[in-house]
Amino acid sequence: MTTDCDCANKLTYTTDTLCQLSDKRIKDQWGALSFPIYQSATFAHRGLGESTGFDYTRMQNPTRQQLEYVLATLEHGNNALAFASGMAAIATIMELFKPGDHIIIDSDLYGGSIRLFNEINKKNGLEFSTADFSRCEYRDCYRENTKAVYLETPTNPMMNVTDIKKLAEFTREKGILLIVDNTFLSPYFQTPLDLGADIVIHSGTKFLGGHHDTIGGFVIVKDQVLEERLRFIYKTTGACLSPFDSWLILRGIRTLSIRMERAAENTMKLAEYLKTKEHITKVIYPGLAEHPGHEIMKKQARGFGAMLTFEVDSVELAESILRDVELIYFAESLGGTETLITYPITQTHADVPRDQLEKNGINPRVLRLSVGIEGIEDLKTEFDRILR
Ligand SMILES: *Cc1c(COP(=O)(O)O)cnc(C)c1O
Repeated sequence: MTTDCDCANKLTYTTDTLCQLSDKRIKDQWGALSFPIYQSATFAHRGLGESTGFDYTRMQNPTRQQLEYVLATLEHGNNALAFASGMAAIATIMELFKPGDHIIIDSDLYGGSIRLFNEINKKNGLEFSTADFSRCEYRDCYRENTKAVYLETPTNPMMNVTDIKKLAEFTREKGILLIVDNTFLSPYFQTPLDLGADIVIHSGTKFLGGHHDTIGGFVIVKDQVLEERLRFIYKTTGACLSPFDSWLILRGIRTLSIRMERAAENTMKLAEYLKTKEHITKVIYPGLAEHPGHEIMKKQARGFGAMLTFEVDSVELAESILRDVELIYFAESLGGTETLITYPITQTHADVPRDQLEKNGINPRVLRLSVGIEGIEDLKTEFDRILR
């Protein structure tokens, strides 16, 4: 059995500590340090009108609620909803809108999000305009029916950085929602609600879970009315995270701070190293001083993350790298303890229209790395070998 949230007096702790406290938000009656997996679809009522607070797992579940408390705390929100995937979270947010509503989206986004907007939401009457947010082009896209602005920063895969605070001034002035997909940095490095965002999204599959062993997604908000609207859609459409997957992500978050620190440190070192390599024509990492978003990120984030994109001088080399990797895995996804290399053109961004890819600089010589927590010397040796 569980009792109420015990988080109020914990909020003064640092993020590092809050990751560790994940099992203490709802007190377990037996004092279990690892919060139990409540693998139950339904919960018995004690009597007429006497619910335990839990009725049916599509609506709420103790293990998932524990995780939702943790996410709300880490993202500096008031409420979080845990979904079966990042895409389920984004699809649910899109249910806030009705046919004829217009949303301004950044031109560089996770390919799955672009596919959702183009192939599903447009069919249902939503309208989208695309702009380069790092150049503040969103202003030119505003219309009478604009209801929201949607972005990632840094973007996937080109690592463009948007000044969230400046964008929030615009959305506030217009009275529209600001939605930020914070997957790339995690709340350890960036908390967009503090910068004026209304809704924060995560693919929990990535840094939050951290071990490539589960799929999940989150939505975090501050506003109570928005939370109630989302909760209604959530329980009605049913893309809820299972108790076991909730537990896996709770466990992943316990090491979020040290994983993020180590992975970001490795990424910085690797970025510097790749810059010295003969066949690499471009290294895109906002931690590098020459990155156009470097100064903005220094202001709005606490670190530069562990995602790095680079370009090589020939398609043949890009292809041979993908064939030759041994330590690094050629795989989709990101944010785990192992380093992954991804080919955006055939993987994450395969469904993005060609002209948009070209405009964003995503060509067949571009590769994306999600840097893990391996020994940096081993990663350098791997590159020495595969760049031959
Ligand atoms: C992976 C990803 C998603 C989708 O999340 P899933 O958990 O795979 O459904 C959304 N946004 C970004 C930035 C991602 O990297």
